[in-house]
Amino acid sequence: MAEESTITARAEDDKIRCDACPVMCYIRPGLTGACDRYANRDGELIRVDPHIVLDRTLAQGGKVVPFDRGGDWDGRLVAGGEAFVTAVGSGTTYPDYKPAPFIVSAEVNGVDMVTVVTEGIFSYAGAKVKIDTDRFIGPEQAAVRVDGEAVGHVTTSEYGSQMLSLGGVHHLTGGSKKEGRVTCEALLELCNGKAVELAIDGGATLVVQAGKAPIVNGAAEARMRVGCGSATIGMFAKQWHGKVDEVVVVDDHITGVLSEHQAGKLLGIRDTGIRMKGRRSTPGRYFQVAEPGLGWGGTNISDPLSILGAFDAKLAWPGLRLLLVSTTGEHYGYYVLDEHLVPVETEVPADLYPSVERIRENCEPALSSVLFMAGAGGSLRAGVTENPVRLTRSVKDSITRVTCGGAPVYVWPGGGITFMVDVTHVPENGFGYVPTPALVAPIEFTLPLAAYEALGGHMDHVRPAASVIEREAVREMAPFSDIPWPLSARSQG
Ligand code: SF4
Repeated sequence: MAEESTITARAEDDKIRCDACPVMCYIRPGLTGACDRYANRDGELIRVDPHIVLDRTLAQGGKVVPFDRGGDWDGRLVAGGEAFVTAVGSGTTYPDYKPAPFIVSAEVNGVDMVTVVTEGIFSYAGAKVKIDTDRFIGPEQAAVRVDGEAVGHVTTSEYGSQMLSLGGVHHLTGGSKKEGRVTCEALLELCNGKAVELAIDGGATLVVQAGKAPIVNGAAEARMRVGCGSATIGMFAKQWHGKVDEVVVVDDHITGVLSEHQAGKLLGIRDTGIRMKGRRSTPGRYFQVAEPGLGWGGTNISDPLSILGAFDAKLAWPGLRLLLVSTTGEHYGYYVLDEHLVPVETEVPADLYPSVERIRENCEPALSSVLFMAGAGGSLRAGVTENPVRLTRSVKDSITRVTCGGAPVYVWPGGGITFMVDVTHVPENGFGYVPTPALVAPIEFTLPLAAYEALGGHMDHVRPAASVIEREAVREMAPFSDIPWPLSARSQG
């Protein structure tokens, strides 16, 4: 349990009023407010969850792990560059002109630094979700639903991955009350690393969980594709040379044909008279050979011969050897033309099979990735400085570093402080919500103390980091080992 909140709590009978967000809950003793983040403990308003401090002197595991001080803890107060006060569990101040809950100073490499720490309330918030699969999950712009409510949409796919854009202010506040509530819940679950089931209009049902394999229509995806069909031809052409006469790599976007492809030409592979369906792009590259779907290479086909026309009798020959394979190596078939130039399926020769295996080997494990994206707009910045635009400029000038629960963020160019963070780098359950509805996310601004003073910071609220770390409410954790330490010079920017 966290110590008393720094925010104002007013007694009314035996209830106290929380003013950490616009909901302004009255909370009875022993109960929590609407967001479960604040509670009334014996008449005191407290932040329920522990306040997370990362301490890099603790043994590092692969993940952030709690540190049990135990009975023999020597009471040391690690500060300076070795401890980082995150915003997870720090609380929120509202309205925004109030200084952030914690503004802490520490000397880092001989420089006095300050970190401004708050749990920001974000109405303009959402998640960009990358799903490593070739399978068709739904048309671009199709609504993504949870419990029948639209929570986002399918957006443009990326190389080997399907993309979703979830949340955002329109779903949180612009639709029905239920749409806002369901959107907020889904975002919270996703950002806190939980699995969420999503249904796409005209498409698939997905189970998405950050850092885990996506489940598409009940089947766990194992691999992402090695590349598009054309790229696959380019990568493996030499390994097929001499072992087979023609290869077609089936792909929903760009299907590749070895004999026509530049890779085949350079290797001197002769024309085979193959005729492909679909729209021919540059040599050996075909678009739209089939409809998108859950079959071969993200198309809707289960019979690969269905995308082939009749072979040109002037060029093809009986005995021509043909390999058809998908971009993951998951589907493959080997055929030999009979005397009528009709492909007849037969067993894949032993010396050709390793190339199919090689495609599979080069397919990385399929994962779902969730990036939380939000804008620290005009208001939240007032908790840092009396002149908010100076904070924005300081971030753009790389003087102030922004982190989310200690995790590095990408700050978008242009106006405002619009950032993205990989949720798997944020300490567990680092995200919360308020029923306005809006997401609550940790955010820290770290900059030299002198720069903080120059941008109009709340200097009378600066206190030593050690005074925060020694509080009962704090839980020390080892930081993630695979991301930069938030106070190190190399993560600046
Ligand atoms: S929703 Fe939570 S933060 Fe908002 S007033 Fe209620 S208890 Fe406080």
